[in-house]
Amino acid sequence: MKRSPPEEPQPPPEATPAASERVPPRRLATTPDRRRLQVFAFDPLLSARIETLGVNQIVVSVPWDKSLAPGPVGEYLEVIDHDPAGECCYAPVNLNDPHLLATDGLAPSEGNPGFHQQMVYAVAMTTIRNFELALGRKALWRPRQPDELGREDDREEYVKRLRIYPHALREANAYYSPAKRALLFGYFPASTTAPGRNLPGGTVFTCLSHDIIAHETTHALLDGMHGRFLEPSNPDVLAFHEAFADVVALLQHFSFPGVLRHQIARTRGDLASQNLLGQLARQFGEAIGHYGALRDAIGRTDPETGEWRPAQPDPAAYRTTFEPHARGAILVAAVFDAFLTIYKSRIADLLRIATGGTGVLPDGELHPDLVTRLAGEAAKSAQHVLTMCIRALDYCPPVDLAFGEYLRALVTADTELVRHDDRGYRVAMIEAFRRRGLYPDDVRSLAPDSLLWRGVDENPDAPDRPSPFGPRRESPVVRANRWNLSAGRERMFHYARELRIEFHRWIERLRRTGDPTALGDLVGLALDDKAPRSIDRDERGRPKFEVHAVYPARRVGPDGQLVMNLVVELTQKRKGFLDPDRQARVDRGLDAGAIADFDFRGGSTLVFDLETAEPRYIIRKGVLSDYRLRCHREHLVNFGWVSLRATYFGNDDDGEPFALLHRDD
Ligand SMILES: [Zn+2]
Repeated sequence: MKRSPPEEPQPPPEATPAASERVPPRRLATTPDRRRLQVFAFDPLLSARIETLGVNQIVVSVPWDKSLAPGPVGEYLEVIDHDPAGECCYAPVNLNDPHLLATDGLAPSEGNPGFHQQMVYAVAMTTIRNFELALGRKALWRPRQPDELGREDDREEYVKRLRIYPHALREANAYYSPAKRALLFGYFPASTTAPGRNLPGGTVFTCLSHDIIAHETTHALLDGMHGRFLEPSNPDVLAFHEAFADVVALLQHFSFPGVLRHQIARTRGDLASQNLLGQLARQFGEAIGHYGALRDAIGRTDPETGEWRPAQPDPAAYRTTFEPHARGAILVAAVFDAFLTIYKSRIADLLRIATGGTGVLPDGELHPDLVTRLAGEAAKSAQHVLTMCIRALDYCPPVDLAFGEYLRALVTADTELVRHDDRGYRVAMIEAFRRRGLYPDDVRSLAPDSLLWRGVDENPDAPDRPSPFGPRRESPVVRANRWNLSAGRERMFHYARELRIEFHRWIERLRRTGDPTALGDLVGLALDDKAPRSIDRDERGRPKFEVHAVYPARRVGPDGQLVMNLVVELTQKRKGFLDPDRQARVDRGLDAGAIADFDFRGGSTLVFDLETAEPRYIIRKGVLSDYRLRCHREHLVNFGWVSLRATYFGNDDDGEPFALLHRDD
């Protein structure tokens, strides 16, 4: 628990100065830290329904951005309201207008483009804030890559703002564009009325759906952290992008107590059952993508009783479902299941108190205090699971993520922050994943301890063996202790780059002075001269590798204090070929000029303890693994990703991975 510092003794109140003394007025107000903005809580489509009427408007508070200009254009986001189909630009909203400051922004309105701009800004900022709270550091967008900039060197460029176009497309679609670093929202007529210069009624705007905005912003935030999660090396990778975006949107939705209070009051007697949250989740499934996979994975309403029942998990689905949304829905359902378990355990005592231990509520309306407490518990559970899910991103492998590995990341990240799982949150998560067959195949059991990632294995035969990472004093990990978490985002970006260069030199030194084969095995790279020739060489003829990312992650130290880990991602690229014989030839150095069918990547995420400079965890995806190479190849062949690859990552302007995935079939 963090305690607030003791209050400073206050000076006695000042005497009122005589009128003749010209004393500058004392600043009474400090800069606000939050900006309150009204948003639609639900999809406006749903607001037409009687049950959501009256709760569709909520106020969110986002961090105060002192640089905020009309648009809104701020530190993280730039809303650009150009409508190519309608051939017009809408006037940018000025959220610093004194009237809007006094009224929590514009009132929700489907017909007011200024409100649309406010809505995308408010929800995207809420999502960013949830990431920053969970990770304890500032969010960055995907940097501009050297090939995009036409540079010969490997210098990436900082991207300050994500662009948001609330009216970019005239279609039932919305997506995050990695190439444009932008969110594009579509609108489409619900009727045949053609929209003109003014926004007409009867039009559906995807930019007015909390869930869609949160989903797309999450794609952008995830891409800013894990750029390689766009590379579909196994069926889970793109499915994870979709699932994670849904998880964040869904849990963020449930973290607004105002939304739930109304529903809980309305559905009295239904508090313990999953009915209420399940129904809300079903609405979410309907709103988010207009597809049924998510809705069905979470649960369905029994046509006879009208009761909502969570779906019976089908462990076979994971082995037979490959479309990214449908596969992702299995993961979303697992997280949602864990959320329900946690919520139920948190309200068990309240229900006992409210029912005098009988479990049967007295007739009449629920006491408003009870409603408030239940809604509060649901919101807290949602916020907790959301934070858990985001923090796990720091403990994922840098490439080729599988769902089972995400479970290990969840368990490890949560253990790092909450030592004892007294409330059983980790167990709830593991159980929900297990029931859907989402677990790693290389662990002995699904006990929380066996799911923790491992560090450098102690060698019982040689306990005094020197560390493969050399003496502590020479490690750049120690210098990274100076990481200033309150520094600006751009400084953080450049500092991380400096550290990446230092780490690269350090690994090169370790390879030169130590045993390159052993070091490579440990970190999933091929560092010695025997490395396959399908891995590029540097000017000295040694296999190239990349320090892909360096960033700090929080954990709780032995005395309860918050301390930092340092996360370092090492990756290596190897030419991949669909034909195994060709692969073997290129690996041996024959056929040197052959153009690869795909990029095969390996490496590891190292989570260093800043004190000892030793890795607490090594999360490995070996570049020399024949098994991984075979799986990657099979995945490309079986699911036609080879031809899609050109669309995804080629120079083609239409290469929008998420647009493709979001298109309705
Ligand atoms: Zn998506």
